[in-house]
Amino acid sequence: MRGNRKANWPTRLISAAGIIRSEEVAMTNAFDAIVVGARCAGSPVAMLLARQGYRVLAVDRASFPSDTISTHFLHPLGAGSLARWGLLDRLAATGCPPIHTYAFDFGPFTLAGVPGTAESPLGYCPRRTILDKLLVDAAAEAGAEIREDFTVDEVLIEDGSVVGIKGRSKHGQSVSERARIVVGADGRSSLVAEAVRPEQYNEKPPLLAGYYSYWSGLPMEGRLENYIRDKRGFAAGQTHDGLTLVIAGWPYAEFAENRKDIEGHYLKAIELAPAFAERLRGATRQARFAGAAVPNYFRKPYGRGWVLVGDAGYNRDFITAQGILDAFRDAELCAAALDRFFSGTQPFENAMDEYHRTRDARVEAMYGLTCQLATLEPPPADLQQLLAAAHGNQSAMDGFARMNAGTISPTEFFAPENVEAIMSAAASNPHGPARRSSN
Ligand SMILES: Cc1cc2nc3c(=O)[nH]c(=O)nc-3n(C[C@H](O)[C@H](O)[C@H](O)COP(=O)(O)OP(=O)(O)OC[C@H]3O[C@@H](n4cnc5c(N)ncnc54)[C@H](O)[C@@H]3O)c2cc1C
Repeated sequence: MRGNRKANWPTRLISAAGIIRSEEVAMTNAFDAIVVGARCAGSPVAMLLARQGYRVLAVDRASFPSDTISTHFLHPLGAGSLARWGLLDRLAATGCPPIHTYAFDFGPFTLAGVPGTAESPLGYCPRRTILDKLLVDAAAEAGAEIREDFTVDEVLIEDGSVVGIKGRSKHGQSVSERARIVVGADGRSSLVAEAVRPEQYNEKPPLLAGYYSYWSGLPMEGRLENYIRDKRGFAAGQTHDGLTLVIAGWPYAEFAENRKDIEGHYLKAIELAPAFAERLRGATRQARFAGAAVPNYFRKPYGRGWVLVGDAGYNRDFITAQGILDAFRDAELCAAALDRFFSGTQPFENAMDEYHRTRDARVEAMYGLTCQLATLEPPPADLQQLLAAAHGNQSAMDGFARMNAGTISPTEFFAPENVEAIMSAAASNPHGPARRSSN
């Protein structure tokens, strides 16, 4: 099967030295897929397609390892993707501490539960310098050609169909490359999306501004701690090198004003949880603050000759830390759909429509919850009652942790029968923890 796929294509791809000479192939369909962007979405797509025997070029204007503005909580199902791809052991070998518990401190009480499943019980918080490099290397090992320091300047379109890219390496000349499909995995400011102008829907403006830094001397003991206060929220989890990532946020309405004193507002937010603030006072900040505010949107992720994956196709606020998990799941769905198209199993339109619908159905409820949480408004009264009722009920707290981790959908957690079960368990235990004491 693999041989057949390759035999359909130009064979003058590899020089005697085994290196692809782009000048030879520039104006032929040298590749099945060109992937623009090689981080959480792009490298897995390139890897999965290359593993199927397809000819893949992945380009990125960055070189790896390199950082990007993003915190990097990786929920258990994201770790599950890495395990399926044979990469989780590599991540663990980098010394990235696992996270077994997610805790949500609402002030009067804390809900603490396990975020994962029996197969994928643990989350991680890997530095992007390490995670993204690991993904790029895996794509290269699978046989994808990787060009780092390569900026795409133009998406080539002929007769309304995307046919390739034009770009340049750092010191090189402009080159054109052609492929059956160009994959835009180039993030929120996607050049591919800009060129093809996909339908954009369910948009919401930035809702939250968040800033983060890294601290030494702040052990977390395998917990991702979230603190929810009125108009403020922050979270902390341990990453590589004995450092702990702490991100704090406020409503987007305060973005411009608070930029004048990010550190002051960050520390003030943390003071709203005095016990954590005390722990932070014993720690040392090891990096400058970085942060962002991002828009929320869906884009139709395909059209003639192109597809979008990761943030290029769908973005949600980072308060629920779903971006890497979503990018991994998109990559799997999209690569599987492209395989069906390339192998002739399904027409492009059908394969991609399935990718589109599956993606949207999977994230719809989480998108709504994320946008609601990102306002940092206090939970509505009925939700407050539910959370208070969940306190001390381990299976309800596990459910809450799993929902926030994207392991189960908000639809499942807020299903009437689940809400009813949590409320009646609390009613039958009127002296339960939430009603007895704080935390
Ligand atoms: C402040 C903040 C905190 C976040 N925290 C989390 C979190 O804790 N957990 C989580 O899961 N998600 C988090 N996210 C979201 C997460 O960062 C993204 O969802 C994820 O990075 C998306 O991956 P991607 O591959 O789609 O895009 P990106 O990571 O943006 O990668 C796109 C790549 O495309 C390349 N590129 C772009 N244009 C071109 C071009 N013209 N030519 C060549 N290359 C190009 C770029 O160099 C880049 O490497 C956060 C985001 C922000 C902003």
